[in-house]
Amino acid sequence: MDICEFSPNYVRAIAPYQPGKPISEVAREYGLDEARIIKLASNENPLGLSPMARLAIDKEIADLSRYPDGNAFDLKAALSQRYSVAAAQVVIGNGSNDLLEMLASAFLAPGRAAVFSQHAFAVYPLATQARGAKCIVVPAKKFAHDLDAMLAAITPETRLVFIANPNNPTGTFARGEAIEDFLRRAPADVVVVLDQAYNEYIPEAQRFDCVPWLAKHRNLVILQTFSKIYGLAGLRVGFGLMDAGIADLLNRVRQPFNVNSLALAAAGAALRDEKFVRQSFDSNGAGMQQLEQGLAKLDLEYIPSCANFICFRVPQQNGKPMGGEMFERLLRQGVIVRPLAGYEMPDHLRVTIGTAQENEAFLKALASALKG
Ligand SMILES: *Cc1c(COP(=O)(O)O)cnc(C)c1O
Repeated sequence: MDICEFSPNYVRAIAPYQPGKPISEVAREYGLDEARIIKLASNENPLGLSPMARLAIDKEIADLSRYPDGNAFDLKAALSQRYSVAAAQVVIGNGSNDLLEMLASAFLAPGRAAVFSQHAFAVYPLATQARGAKCIVVPAKKFAHDLDAMLAAITPETRLVFIANPNNPTGTFARGEAIEDFLRRAPADVVVVLDQAYNEYIPEAQRFDCVPWLAKHRNLVILQTFSKIYGLAGLRVGFGLMDAGIADLLNRVRQPFNVNSLALAAAGAALRDEKFVRQSFDSNGAGMQQLEQGLAKLDLEYIPSCANFICFRVPQQNGKPMGGEMFERLLRQGVIVRPLAGYEMPDHLRVTIGTAQENEAFLKALASALKG
C-alpha cells in the first residue's frame, strides 16, 4: 500500500510551481560567489524595500511574541482610504497568491471550472486543480489574453475567470476599455478576478482605474500585491478589493492569522512611501529602455511589456528551442533569468528589469551566451 494513492487524483496530477532559482542555490551548484550573482528571475524590486517599511519592521519586532491582528484593521483602513472603498470590501492575503487560493476555495470544487489564458500566471491552474475543478485554457493571441475568446469559453460550470493585467510572464496588457467591456458582457454569476500585480508599473498613458467598477459589477475582484513595486516579496502580503459579500466568503476560508505582523506593518508603511514607489517606477522605465535597446542590438525579438520584466526570443538551433540552453549558459555566468518552457514558451526567456548595472551585466552575459 502506498498511502499517497489515497490523495485525490487531481491533487496527485499537479505539477509543482517552479520558482525562480534562489541565489544561494546557484552559488552552490555552479561554485560561484553569492555576492557576484545577479538574480533577475522573480520580478522583485531591484531597489530593495522602502526605507519607511524597514523602519516599521524594526519597530514591530518587539511585539513578535503576539499574534498578528487577524483582521488587519490598520492596513485595511489605509487601503480603504486609498481606494475609496469600505473596509469590509478589503481582504488581506499572505501574498496575493493567498487570495487566489481563497477565491479558488470559495468558488471552485469538482464539477466546476475556471477560465484563464494560455501563457498566464502559473498559479491559476495550480489553485484550480487543487480543488478538483477543470482548467479551461484559452489560446493566447500574440502572447496576450484573447478576451473575446475567453468570454466565449465560459461554460455553465465556470465560476471563476482569471485575467492577469499586465500578464506574467508575457508583460502583455489589455486596455481599461477592453476589460470593462469584458465585464459588461460576462455572466454576472461568474467571478472575474483582475490580477494587477504589476499595476503600479503600467506607463501613465495606459493606466486606468477599475475600482469604481466594483459598484456596478459585484462579480469583480481586484487583486494587488506588495511583492513587486513595494519591494516586500519576502514578507508575503497582498490584497483584494471586492464586493463585501465575496469578502465575507473569503474570510470564511482564510486562515485566521494568514498575514504576519511584520508584513502588516511594512505594507502600511510602504503604501505611504510614495517617494519610493516613484523612484522604483522611474528606475524601471529607464531599465526597460536599456534592455529594449540592448536586446534590439543583439537582434533579439522581445514582447513589449507594461510590467517590470520583459520576454525575449532566443533563436532556435537546428530547429530546436534554445531557451533552456541559454538559461543554463547565463547561470554559468552568475545571471539568473526565468526559462519559460513550463509556460509553453520554450523559445523565450523572461528577465526582470534590474538596476542599470545589473541590466548591463545581464546584456553582456547574454551576448556571450549567444556566441555559444
Ligand atoms: C507576482 C505575481 C502575483 C503575486 O505574488 P504574491 O507575491 O503572492 O503577491 C500575482 N499575480 C501575478 C500575475 C504575479 O506575477
